[in-house]
Amino acid sequence: MEILDGRQRSQELTELYTQAVEKLKKVSVTPKLVVITVGEDPASFVYVRQKKRRAEAVGMDFEWVTLGDETSQEELEATIDKFNDDSKTSGIIVQFPLPNHLSESRAMDRIAIEKDVDGFHYYNAGLLVAGKAEFKPCTPKGILNLLEAHDIDVAGMDAVVIGRSQIVGMPIAIDLIHHNATVTVCHSRTKDLKFHTQRADLIVVAIGNAHMLDASYIKEGTILIDVGINRLDDGKLVGDVDYEDVKDKVKAITPVPGGVGPMTVAMLMEQTILAAIRQHGLDSREFLG
Ligand code: NAD
Repeated sequence: MEILDGRQRSQELTELYTQAVEKLKKVSVTPKLVVITVGEDPASFVYVRQKKRRAEAVGMDFEWVTLGDETSQEELEATIDKFNDDSKTSGIIVQFPLPNHLSESRAMDRIAIEKDVDGFHYYNAGLLVAGKAEFKPCTPKGILNLLEAHDIDVAGMDAVVIGRSQIVGMPIAIDLIHHNATVTVCHSRTKDLKFHTQRADLIVVAIGNAHMLDASYIKEGTILIDVGINRLDDGKLVGDVDYEDVKDKVKAITPVPGGVGPMTVAMLMEQTILAAIRQHGLDSREFLG
């Protein structure tokens, strides 16, 4: 059984990004990531702190804009516009979830497409479908990067994606198709989940249901990508997969924590660097190889 170690891979990438930022600074370009949060969702704060730590580690500028719970849609959009117009800001993300009175899709689509480093804007989502994405959602991009780093070629594989969210399930399904996998997308209305998962060579599970996928769902030798992040009552973080139950049956698996999560943050760094490179008319090969 092979552990697909996202922490180690993201560490390697951090070194590459640090060098890229150093080279960019020599031509007077410092990539800058702006993260906007609304309210005080504790899980979001943990994620933003991880992004801040990584941004500082690679040497880029980072600004965390915290808006109060009562912020209106107009105020949120005015804040996004301010950074859209700021020439020093390379990338902007709005950390979800937003309070219920705010529209996440309106926030996503307000970000300038050239600063949309989360890849959620409908224009960038359209480019992903067309196979011409400049910015992809970071979690799917990180999953494919991790698979490639382990020489796992998904071409021809029967892949099952569980979950169809705009930020994980849907874009990973599309990207797997572009990488020549045969893809089935399952979700909460799927009639017989096991029928699909038991014949899959590769399963990507992104539902947010602790330990749901046990050994009875999979065939011998499958590759399991566990996107889920669930906090148990005792504070422990676990995925959607029952790791102990499946570990002797899989060919490869991502741990939680330490699998997909660090890769998501790494891809955010890469896309912010790419945004800065493009905004200054530079050649990405010179900086990122
Ligand atoms: P979401 O709630 O938007 O979507 C969940 C999806 O799961 C839905 O499409 C739903 O149809 C499907 N689903 C729910 N129950 C199901 C069931 N019993 N059987 C089949 N399908 C079912 O969630 P999301 O934003 O896509 O996130 C999913 C999980 O991934 C969460 O735990 C989230 O915290 C985690 N996540 C992790 C990362 C990371 O970097 N590791 C990034 C994003 C999200």
